[in-house]
Amino acid sequence: MKKIKEITGLLPKLSKEDALLISSAFEFAKEAHEGQLRFSGEPYFNHLFETAKILAELKMSPKTISAGLLHDTLEDANIKEEEVREKFGEEILFLVKGVTKLGKIKYRGAERHNESMRKLFVAVSQDIRVIIIKLADRLHNIRTLEYVPEHKRERIAKETLEIYVPIAYRLGIRKLNRQLEDASFPFVYPKEYEETRKLLKEKSKEDFQKLDKFQKSIKKALAKNGVTDFTLNYRLKTLYSLYNKLRRKDWNIEKIHDISALRIILPETEDCYKVMGIIHSIWRPLPGRIKDYIAFPKPNGYQAIHTTIFTGYGNVVEIQIKSREMHREAEFGIASHVFYKEGEKGKKFSRLSWVQRLLPFKNPFLKGKSLEEKVAHEDIPSWIKDLVEYQSSEKRGSALSGEIRDDFFTQRIFVFTPKGDVIDLPLESTPIDFAYAIHSEVGNSTAGAKVSGKMVSLDTHLKNGDIVEIITNKKNSPKQKWLEYAKTTAAKKHIKSFLQEHHKKTGK
Ligand code: MN
Repeated sequence: MKKIKEITGLLPKLSKEDALLISSAFEFAKEAHEGQLRFSGEPYFNHLFETAKILAELKMSPKTISAGLLHDTLEDANIKEEEVREKFGEEILFLVKGVTKLGKIKYRGAERHNESMRKLFVAVSQDIRVIIIKLADRLHNIRTLEYVPEHKRERIAKETLEIYVPIAYRLGIRKLNRQLEDASFPFVYPKEYEETRKLLKEKSKEDFQKLDKFQKSIKKALAKNGVTDFTLNYRLKTLYSLYNKLRRKDWNIEKIHDISALRIILPETEDCYKVMGIIHSIWRPLPGRIKDYIAFPKPNGYQAIHTTIFTGYGNVVEIQIKSREMHREAEFGIASHVFYKEGEKGKKFSRLSWVQRLLPFKNPFLKGKSLEEKVAHEDIPSWIKDLVEYQSSEKRGSALSGEIRDDFFTQRIFVFTPKGDVIDLPLESTPIDFAYAIHSEVGNSTAGAKVSGKMVSLDTHLKNGDIVEIITNKKNSPKQKWLEYAKTTAAKKHIKSFLQEHHKKTGK
């Protein structure tokens, strides 16, 4: 029996009103999914419970957690939107609808479209809370993937690695990103998973014993130097990140020095430098392994001091030193800000300000550089560059900082080929634009178009999520009036050049 206390217990300082909201969502979901079972044979409600629990672990708001409980009611339990609106209000309905829409995006494994898929994912969700609910939903689904029919497992796990993980990573929600990776890993690369696991097992056994002795020495050293307010723990490298590193190091585990690491968490930034000083004055650091990510954060914003030292027990160990704030940021990323924002009185939650978090511009070397230079410098996927370019073209001549306009998402539509590839087009695009976006020859021989199985005229405005099929005929050729239908410059260019050629040849 799932108990609501397991969720609410994770949320300190919960008001009566908020507790009531969560418990009515809890009861509502339970009743809505009554009698439904998961592949594992357990009640369907367990999935909603676990999703909400992951959200509570991320310290999300009561509204987001409630939406997490309700996220499958529209799609899988035949509940009407009206009912959710009446009972839980417009905002929760908006979140539930967002998650439902995201669920309809299907990944079909075409690698060249991974970036468009991520972009589509971001565009469809609009609100960061929708993405976070979807990530939590996916995490529970992946954790129970072994029960899903075998032929579906690999696709779901691959989709998780290619689409969900990079988004969680970009948003800095490492807690989710790591768990999603490790849960998908065995289904996508079973052999490599086994190999990595074996290597780690052998290695970590000896490591742990030494580490245990060593951490006592560290505690003593800190206390002796007057540092008493700290948390010290170990973390083991996750399997998937170890696998990635092994690939880069010729599968030689001896070349990897951060398999296990000690983590020291302190109240303030200056404490971090002080502790580094204490440690280096006692143990010799490995040259070239001292990394000051506080002064020079990683592109995703990660901050800490890393140093690797000789322990005196015949091994080396990595020590990560960070402030509480840095630790929270590293684990929860953007998720740690959403809650505060929602709670702030009088300040409207900005639906799109989070998109800026996808831009990794914390690198201090880039201070004072223009936006274009920053984009060129960092390794940023093209769709994020598009967002930046869009923003700068909108604001040409004015200051470039500020929010990305809401219209970015409303100016673009995402449609699918019958095979499931995503094509990204401007608003009001027609089958003509779609055909030329696939290939100029497809465009030139367009004879008709089907949208979601039905014939449509060539001037039809396509909508988000349409599945478009172009019917071609080699004898067909572009018509003058297509120029009016076309919205994209690419399509217009091809049509014009064809008509000009044709005119030269025939004089018509
Ligand atoms: Mn679900």
